Amino acid sequence: MEVYALPWSEGKDLRLLLMAKILVVEDEQDLLNILKASLEAQGHKVDVSSDGADAIEKLGHFKFDLVILDWHLPNKSGIEVLSHHRNSGGQTPVLMLTGRNQAMDKAAGLDTGADDYLTKPFDEREFDARVRALLRRPHTFTGTVLALGDITIEQDTRRVFKSGKEIVLLPLEYNLLEFLIRHRGQSFSAEALLDRVWKTGTEVSEDAVRTVVKTLRRKIANPDGSSVIQTVYGVGYRASESTEK
Ligand code: CA
Repeated sequence: MEVYALPWSEGKDLRLLLMAKILVVEDEQDLLNILKASLEAQGHKVDVSSDGADAIEKLGHFKFDLVILDWHLPNKSGIEVLSHHRNSGGQTPVLMLTGRNQAMDKAAGLDTGADDYLTKPFDEREFDARVRALLRRPHTFTGTVLALGDITIEQDTRRVFKSGKEIVLLPLEYNLLEFLIRHRGQSFSAEALLDRVWKTGTEVSEDAVRTVVKTLRRKIANPDGSSVIQTVYGVGYRASESTEK
């Protein structure tokens, strides 16, 4: 998933626009078109399928951030698609679409590993809200992108970007930044960082930690010297979207 920090993400109200890759599995062509158009209008990349066997194949070959899955499908049912995906280790969040009054379906769907369900017919705004909620859950990320303020980290490639522009970090600087962003809002002393970020057994002093923090902050700082890594006086350091000096 690509994550972009928007201009209004400055300050405490951090909002991220999530550009997710979504698979929509639905055999009612009209509904499929509506859902696809709605998701694409929000900037998502949408792949479609209108049969269960095809959906299983797509889920086996491609990685998605979210699956919208109709219950009643030709070839394999939605529940078969879902259980196949979960049994083969698939973690992708699934929003099930069920017919009216199929309470049993809902229970079975959630038991099988659906993350949420919507009963047809549903309001498009309700659909959008459920999609947003599922994409906001941490586990819905493919585990590759972390973002805070204007800083984005691609964990797979260990690349760091500030407002989309790549910043080259040394391995220790990267490890430190990733750790602090992963634990955003929490403060860590130099000693705690030494313990948790540096390899055990390395002969480093807390001063060395402070030096790495300093160079890291300089590399990711704004022109006025502020950065997403702040000094917490008397405690240590923390990452937070409020970019105080
Ligand atoms: Ca159907």
